[in-house]
Amino acid sequence: MARQKYRAVLADLDGTINRGDQLIPGAAETYSRLSEKGVKWIFVSNSARRLAHQLAEKINRLGLSVSQGQVINSASALLDEISRAWIGAKLYVVGEPPLVRGIADAGGVIDQSHEKVDIVVVAMDSNFNYDKLNTAFQFLRKGALFWATNLDTTFPTEGGFVPGSGAIVAAISAAIGRQPDKVFGKPHSDMARLALRRLNLTPSECLVVGDRMDTDVLFARNSMMDAALVFTGATTREHLLHYNFRPEYLFDDINGIQELFEEENK
Ligand SMILES: [Mg+2]
Repeated sequence: MARQKYRAVLADLDGTINRGDQLIPGAAETYSRLSEKGVKWIFVSNSARRLAHQLAEKINRLGLSVSQGQVINSASALLDEISRAWIGAKLYVVGEPPLVRGIADAGGVIDQSHEKVDIVVVAMDSNFNYDKLNTAFQFLRKGALFWATNLDTTFPTEGGFVPGSGAIVAAISAAIGRQPDKVFGKPHSDMARLALRRLNLTPSECLVVGDRMDTDVLFARNSMMDAALVFTGATTREHLLHYNFRPEYLFDDINGIQELFEEENK
C-alpha cells in the first residue's frame, strides 16, 4: 500500500466545515472517511468567543462527532501561553466571559482594580465600550504587554458579517499608537505548534484546509505546512490574483481533499 503523504488535517471551521449552523455538504462524510483511514483531524478556529471545549460542543451539535482535544482556537493558544509562562501574572481582559474565566483557570490573575497589569488581552467583546477602551489604554500606557487573540476584523453570523476582534484591537491600537506585541490566531503559528504537540507529528505530515488566503493559507506557510484552499467561504478564484503566494491545492470544497488520501495516487 502506498503511504499517504499527510497523516493529519488541520481544518478551519467557518467557510470550510460549516457556514454558521449548517455543515457544508459532504464535510461530515469527508471527515469520517478520512478518519477511518487513520487520518487525524484538528479543527483550528480564530474565534475566542468560546473556549475550545465549548466550540467542540458546537461542532458536535452541527453533526460532526469530535472530541475536545480535536479543537484548538486562539483562546487555546493564549491559555497555553499563560499556563506555561505567565502563572500569577496580572491581566486586564477585553473579551467575552468564557475567555475571562478561562484565563483565570489557566493561572492568570484578573482584577481591574490593579494600578498596573502585566498584560492587556484583547479579544472579541460584544460589550466593548469607551470605558473598556480607556482602561486598556491606561494599562498599556503604564507598560503592559498588548496581546490579541486574533485580528479578524469581521466574523460571520446568521444575520451576516459583524465587527470582530480585529476591529476592537484597531480601536485600542489607534489610541495607544502601537500594534499588539503578540497575536495568537491565524496566520500566526501558535495554534499549529499546539496541534503538532497533540498529534505528535511533524509539519510536513499535516495539511491545512481553509477558506482564507490571509489567515489559513498564510498560517500553513508560517507553520511549514502544505495548504488546501476551498471556495466555500471568503475567497473566490478571482481573489487569488491579488496574492503573490498560492496554496499547494485548490478545491471547490472540502470534499476535494479526499483525493490526496487515495492510496493509488500516492
Ligand atoms: Mg474560515
